[in-house]
Amino acid sequence: MRVTILGSGTHVPDPDRGPAGFLVEEGGARVLVDGGSGTIGRLARAGVDARDLDALVYTHRHVDHCADLAPILFTLCVPSATVRTRELPVWAGEGFASFLAALQAAWGSWIVPSTFPLRVVELPLDGPGRADLPGGLVLDTLPALHSAGALHLKFTAPDRRTVVFSGDTAPSAGLVDLARGCDLLVCECSLEDGQDVPGHLAPTDVAALATQARPGRLVLTHMYPREHPDGDVVRIASTGVPTLRARDGDAFDL
Ligand SMILES: [Zn+2]
Ligand SMILES: [Zn+2]
Repeated sequence: MRVTILGSGTHVPDPDRGPAGFLVEEGGARVLVDGGSGTIGRLARAGVDARDLDALVYTHRHVDHCADLAPILFTLCVPSATVRTRELPVWAGEGFASFLAALQAAWGSWIVPSTFPLRVVELPLDGPGRADLPGGLVLDTLPALHSAGALHLKFTAPDRRTVVFSGDTAPSAGLVDLARGCDLLVCECSLEDGQDVPGHLAPTDVAALATQARPGRLVLTHMYPREHPDGDVVRIASTGVPTLRARDGDAFDL
């Protein structure tokens, strides 16, 4: 399984960090996890044509996580040399189907596929969810402590390697459960300690999570610009869990 960081930032303009977006590749399947604005271009930089994606998975419906959904559908719908006929499945929390329907009502037939099925599968917001994805991946979810239908995601490959995405969240017992012993935890660390923004994690929160869940590796993402850019890694790595700050384009082989 390969995990590529497409965007390690947020909605805050940052020359080095795009909004949230990740690529999970396993068994020849390419699964996009979130995708804020500019994701199509960052996919191309990672060597993946958005028209070749096999599935989309969203942690939640905030703009910095799903703004490129309409552009991706547009790219798949406009006439081109290759016409997609195979299904594009989408997994996300409850409420996503009506969100997509509203997008399609606004943009019209430009993002309503006529040559391939677009299948939305909603996952529960009140307990665990599970789905079988392309490439033999199994997706397990738990509700996150955030808004807009937010989920934590865990992908398990056929060889049992695992990657967990926190999505946006406040400190969450569900995230500890899902991330326990995983090979790679891609975790939001939006804030610096002392900043008070509800629904997000700061280094002390992530250190507590690392201590309890003991992931094999921890990659910090969804970072607002910092006054003390290295403080978070130093704080969290003191737990003994190998920790680094994601950069756009980083790839991790599990
Ligand atoms: Zn959010
Ligand atoms: Zn966000």
